[in-house]
Amino acid sequence: MQYTEITVRYGELSTKGKNRRSFIDRLGTNTRNALASFDKLEIKAHRDRMHIRLNGEDYHEVVKLVKKIFGIQNFSPAIKVGRDVEEVKRTAIEIFNEIATDGMTFKINTRRSDHNFEYDTNQLNDILGGTILDNFPQVKVQMKQPDITLRVEVRSDGIYLSYEQIPGAGGLPVGTAGKGLLMLSGGIDSPVAGYLALKRGVDLEMVHFYSPPYTSEQALNKAKELTAKLAPYVGKIRFIQVPFAEIQETVKKDVPAGYLMTIQRRFMLRLCEKIAEQRHALAIFNGESLGQVASQTMESMAAINDVTSMPILRPVVSMDKNDIIKVAEEIDTFNLSIKPYEDCCTVFAPTAPKTKPRIDRSREYESKLDVDGLIERSLAGIKITEITSADHFLNAQEESFAELL
Ligand code: ATP
Ligand code: MG
Repeated sequence: MQYTEITVRYGELSTKGKNRRSFIDRLGTNTRNALASFDKLEIKAHRDRMHIRLNGEDYHEVVKLVKKIFGIQNFSPAIKVGRDVEEVKRTAIEIFNEIATDGMTFKINTRRSDHNFEYDTNQLNDILGGTILDNFPQVKVQMKQPDITLRVEVRSDGIYLSYEQIPGAGGLPVGTAGKGLLMLSGGIDSPVAGYLALKRGVDLEMVHFYSPPYTSEQALNKAKELTAKLAPYVGKIRFIQVPFAEIQETVKKDVPAGYLMTIQRRFMLRLCEKIAEQRHALAIFNGESLGQVASQTMESMAAINDVTSMPILRPVVSMDKNDIIKVAEEIDTFNLSIKPYEDCCTVFAPTAPKTKPRIDRSREYESKLDVDGLIERSLAGIKITEITSADHFLNAQEESFAELL
């Protein structure tokens, strides 16, 4: 079947009242960005539908990317014909030639956005229903829940036929919820948290703490590669790498082992808050899940949260590890996340972190450190890069070497 366009139906947008226009505009922009490499496409985002005209571009390649755009409820590949009922009949027959099976039920569903056409919707339903029944004795009409609904849309520039509805990514267009930072480690949870935040329309920038010489270039590259895995949902993502070695060395030297984790996390949050201010982000997202490890008890979250009043949002907080892993597999980050490059937290992890750290103790231990100086020097060393889905950071040879370890 030679499709000529993809008709896109919006998701939750329809309920968004007066914000509707900006939602649709954003979805249009995101779609144009996501499909920028296909230069023949024409994309028009109207009030109730978006139309992606293929103009000869490969349908299957385009659809792969369309499936990742948040804010799309479902979409249909469509065939455009002239405003001529004979042409519509011929195309309907061609479609049924491909899909008709014994006992299959169908109905015709016609819409007219152009009321000047010579037949109205009922007439068109009758004419086309008759054509199909005449040509395909093995199928029958059924109004309620038929196997196939052939949709016919009469527009001023032509008539569009479609019969498939493919589920889209759902969610809200990225950017409609404002900007946030994601604390991205090399683990399983934070990329999933990032995906879920993007799905709710958050425009994310990644913050990754790294500690050379204690952590390898590969650990940093792994975080970048994970970012590239999330990039198709957005087009491109900013990756902010923050040097963390001096803080970790100092904390290790001057803070009791039980509080190492808590104090390190408090530093991470302070840094995130400063970066958020600079970059006009409204909230910090992370991959914490309640009770998963020592630093993720409620006492621990409270002790860490103490350093900021900025919202810390935890999209996977109540998910079981297995469910997080399922999403990680769906978004293809799992295999990357389990690669054995240690990030800064693993290297400086205390053997027995306190599961119920106290806020007063945390403050007390920190009062002996040059918090401002440490934060300032770390911020001075930040590096920002832009990452797209086409970027690759882990080199294949080193990957297979690491697998042997
Ligand atoms: P993950 O699988 O996301 O690494 P985890 O179960 O290993 O999570 P922790 O290592 O305790 O949990 O980290 C909790 C959260 O803190 C992470 O989900 C992430 O958001 C943030 N985090 C941890 N390490 C880093 C890092 N090096 N850079 C940025 N954020 C980090
Ligand atoms: Mg981790």
